[in-house]
Amino acid sequence: MPLLVQKFGGTSVADANKILAAARRAIQAHQKGQQVVVVVSARGHTTDELIELAKEIHDHPPAREMDMLLSTGEQISVALMAMAIQSLGVPAISFTGAQIGLVTDSFHTKARIRNISTERMIQALNDGKVVIVAGFQGIDQDYNITTLGRGGSDTSAVALAAVLGADACEIYTDVDGVYTTDPRVVPEARKIDRISYDEMLELASLGAGVMHSRSIEFAKKFGVPIHVRSSFSDAVGTWIVAEADAKRLGVMVTGAALAKDEARITVHRVPDRPGVVHSLFQSIAEAHIVVDMIVQNVATDGTAEISFTVDAADLPETLRTVENAARAIGAAGVAHQAEVAKVSVVGLGMRTHTGVAKLMFESLAQAGINIQMITTSEIKISVLVDRPSAALALRTVHKAFDLDREAQGVWPPYSVDTRTVSPNRPMQDAENGTVATLSQGMEELVISGAELDETQACVTLFHVPDQPGYAGQVFRRIADAGVFVDMIVQNVSTAGITHLSFTVPREQAELATRAVSGIGLGEVRVEPEIAKLSVLGVGMRTHTGVATRMFGALGDRGINIVLINTSEVRINVVTDLGQGKVAHDCLREVFALNESS
Ligand code: ASP
Ligand code: MG
Repeated sequence: MPLLVQKFGGTSVADANKILAAARRAIQAHQKGQQVVVVVSARGHTTDELIELAKEIHDHPPAREMDMLLSTGEQISVALMAMAIQSLGVPAISFTGAQIGLVTDSFHTKARIRNISTERMIQALNDGKVVIVAGFQGIDQDYNITTLGRGGSDTSAVALAAVLGADACEIYTDVDGVYTTDPRVVPEARKIDRISYDEMLELASLGAGVMHSRSIEFAKKFGVPIHVRSSFSDAVGTWIVAEADAKRLGVMVTGAALAKDEARITVHRVPDRPGVVHSLFQSIAEAHIVVDMIVQNVATDGTAEISFTVDAADLPETLRTVENAARAIGAAGVAHQAEVAKVSVVGLGMRTHTGVAKLMFESLAQAGINIQMITTSEIKISVLVDRPSAALALRTVHKAFDLDREAQGVWPPYSVDTRTVSPNRPMQDAENGTVATLSQGMEELVISGAELDETQACVTLFHVPDQPGYAGQVFRRIADAGVFVDMIVQNVSTAGITHLSFTVPREQAELATRAVSGIGLGEVRVEPEIAKLSVLGVGMRTHTGVATRMFGALGDRGINIVLINTSEVRINVVTDLGQGKVAHDCLREVFALNESS
């Protein structure tokens, strides 16, 4: 029998009428012959109010009691939802996280799911009931109540869809889908019809913010199709699906995102030796600080500049940590800028970055916006700008890629029957419908691959003035020459000058060099003998320390890192070509990847 998980957020269950409206949706699906599991959040601002109340009583409320307190918000919602459905004549039963055996680790207020027992839910579903489950909560092995972190009900819903093998997970919210960018900043933003998990991940933790990013990681890992839609209309929302189902021909960019509150730290003149980058990031990971962008450019005079960004709120602590670490590794000093923002464009269609880079950088230049740092992933280009220019930068790129117009391009057909289901999906035991036991914790970090690319060369421009327009000029010439660009790395400037490096197919390196030589940006150097290594996976962003493990493993083998760039779903480094194979083996070993990856 088809099974659907429906999740209702706080605004969708804020009062009695809204709860009844949500109940009617569940009943509609039930009457169509679907088994229905409903996951609910706390009503309206309940969670915020409970947090405020706790703070009035205790300066630092103990985390265990916080979870005990916050879980009550969802418990109210499930009871009322079950009553609402019953009042409309359909059998329903509510459960807390503990009652369905949603077991987590013991990290109160930010617990991760280990396991879910499906027996009790399946029993109730088979009895014809609508099952209502409290989102956001579970229990640890000692029966302590835990919560999954703010916004965690999305993760509960996707996790239930995964273990129950649901056909889809519907997320009902107060917006009608995922938008091309934040409509509060860019009113011309449009609803996206279909987007892949990776695009959503690259956008989500950047600020598109419709869903808890752990829930997307989870959906990707278990191949759960998600439908984000409005509780207040019947309109189709946004489907978040596997890449094969989301790839549109002829479209480069799907969305643009802004991370407004970042701070940038630069460590000057870091000795260009194996292991040094590792000790720097090790100290940051130990302080539990989440690092966002990391950029290391090509070294000159035996030293490299390393820049990275953190949440602006973490700046003071990061500086304390980094200043000590910088001294220990013999770097020249630490600089920072408190008010920066990251603007990114994301799209499955940018297999090479050439055309996208050209358009993005040129449009920013025309708007008079200076690019401080650049980093890329397979499907994203991010730039760091001054915070006061952030909104203008976002509007500018949104317009440059026509995201304000009707989406072009052709979608692959999509329906429950044609969609690509991930083989990772835990299956129920078909015979007796009991627990799908998972060998690992459901939310464990999963590194899905370590890639080695030995086909590229690296081109570096050493004298790029720190003024609007240069990156645009460079990539216009590169595009005109028909060169394919993969990684782009630009660090912040020292004394008004910065380096800009990019990788191209080795056979195009000469062509690329000729194309950019005429601009008058000083020496252009080609390093033909490079290897690019990437670690990619799920949970990179929300699990601190992947970069640290990667840099540590390479450092231990004496492998020097020439360039670094990062995104939400991958970390790329460039090493010497001769060290590529060793580096690749080492990464496979460290991240326990088997032969096929
Ligand atoms: N009620 C929790 C919160 O406000 C969980 C959720 O709504 O997803 O963060
Ligand atoms: Mg939410």
